Amino acid sequence: MTQALGALADRVAGSVIRPDDEAYEEARRVYNGMIDARPAAIVRCATEDDVVAVVRLAAEKGMELAVRGGGHSVPGFGTADGAIVADLSGLQSVEVDDGRRTAAAGGGTTWGRFNDVTAAHGLATTGGIISTTGIGGLTLGGGIGYLCRGHGLSCDNLVSARVVTADGSLVTADENENADLFWALRGGGGNFGVVTEFTYRLHPVTTIYGGPMFFELADGAAVLRYFRDFIATAPREFGGFPAFQIAPPLPFVPENRAGEPFVALVSCWTGPEEEGRQILDGFRAVSAPVAEHIGPMPYPALNSAFDGLVPPGLQHYWKAAYVRDLTDEAIAVHMEHGPKVPTVNSTVHLYPIDGAVHDVPGDATAFGHRDANFAPVIAGMWPDPADNEANIRWVRDYYAAIAPHSDAGGYINFASPDDQDKVADNYGANYRRLGEIKRRYDPDNLFHLNQNIKPGGLPTPRQGTP
Ligand SMILES: Cc1cc2nc3c(=O)[nH]c(=O)nc-3n(C[C@H](O)[C@H](O)[C@H](O)COP(=O)(O)OP(=O)(O)OC[C@H]3O[C@@H](n4cnc5c(N)ncnc54)[C@H](O)[C@@H]3O)c2cc1C
Repeated sequence: MTQALGALADRVAGSVIRPDDEAYEEARRVYNGMIDARPAAIVRCATEDDVVAVVRLAAEKGMELAVRGGGHSVPGFGTADGAIVADLSGLQSVEVDDGRRTAAAGGGTTWGRFNDVTAAHGLATTGGIISTTGIGGLTLGGGIGYLCRGHGLSCDNLVSARVVTADGSLVTADENENADLFWALRGGGGNFGVVTEFTYRLHPVTTIYGGPMFFELADGAAVLRYFRDFIATAPREFGGFPAFQIAPPLPFVPENRAGEPFVALVSCWTGPEEEGRQILDGFRAVSAPVAEHIGPMPYPALNSAFDGLVPPGLQHYWKAAYVRDLTDEAIAVHMEHGPKVPTVNSTVHLYPIDGAVHDVPGDATAFGHRDANFAPVIAGMWPDPADNEANIRWVRDYYAAIAPHSDAGGYINFASPDDQDKVADNYGANYRRLGEIKRRYDPDNLFHLNQNIKPGGLPTPRQGTP
């Protein structure tokens, strides 16, 4: 193996970082500080050919292969003990085609970079709410963000992808070429190959109106009920979500209230400012905000506004659900567990995934559960490993309580390592077809460090963990 990695280092344009190298300690780290894996080598791919070389070597030598885009995977799928890591962080580029209103971006690009470049053209597409997340993992798993009610999921805006498949071929996947692979990439996660370039449809988005508001917990249930009723008929220009969040010590938060948990609303309104103001007045009439930071801002500013709450290296443990009806009973459960949010970094978001997400038929892409109206996530994030047990317990107890009010499965990008037994449920009716496409493109399951779809579609047996 040493010889093979040495030969690879001579062949690739990027660098091959091994345990003896000074850069190794930093290079082996992923976003979730709980992950402490020691891969055999991290290959900082500089070109598509580098990616091809890594995939071929892993396949030939039977090596464990980890693919890392932005490195945000909560289960730490971008690394593994003894693995060869195809690190795509060197493949960061964004090229906008104004005529076609598309952007082609390298497979390791982050949303911050993507949004900054497209914003200069007055354009955007649906991306995540934190700027450091990779476009790779987020898009392949679906992609929920501020713009999804208006413009669909990130994967719905994917026009084409350049993909290195398990046999080391570099192929294009779009509606015409390798259409089955293209179908599977839109929600199926990293199961089908390494995407070296994503091309997205863009939309005119410049200044948005919005930001966070914090409401008293005493009014929390009323705010959540108001949100549920409002969002059912809300204009698609409204993106945003209710949350449980400890107020950070920021200038707009009264000093004596920082550190307390609140029901929050984070809004992103892409329509005329006055209309956005009226919409938020509706919430203010339900409960006078304790704190708010609302105003017009460039879309990328909102996309990076919360980065400071989630620096790299925190401990992460998350759970996800899909919900059709946010019933009063479900809201009562949220009001019991949400206010126990343990740290300022942790949060609970109830993302609405209706609007344009529902325009796409359920079998048109691999993404499961287009019948759901909400994708709640319980995102446990905390700095000190000594608190792991208590924080994981909070996430698990919360999830166990909302599960009876939720559909089976949960958005794969918000799931934890112990959620592999929910993968089939996550895809529902699409799982069988995913299994067939997996068998065709990756019969030996080379790409298995992900929420894994088995070749042939056999479900992973249930382990009984919540
Ligand atoms: C702080 C934070 C905020 C988040 N916010 C959102 C949000 O707003 N909306 C949302 O939908 N999700 C969000 N997520 C979840 C996010 O979508 C997933 O963690 C996603 O997997 C991250 O992608 P990545 O490329 O950064 O991660 P990585 O860890 O690099 O990769 C995740 C998975 O995707 C695969 N992968 C990555 N890039 C490629 C590629 N180019 N080709 C093939 N496979 C690839 C990897 O092999 C791995 O299996 C957030 C996560 C974090 C930690």
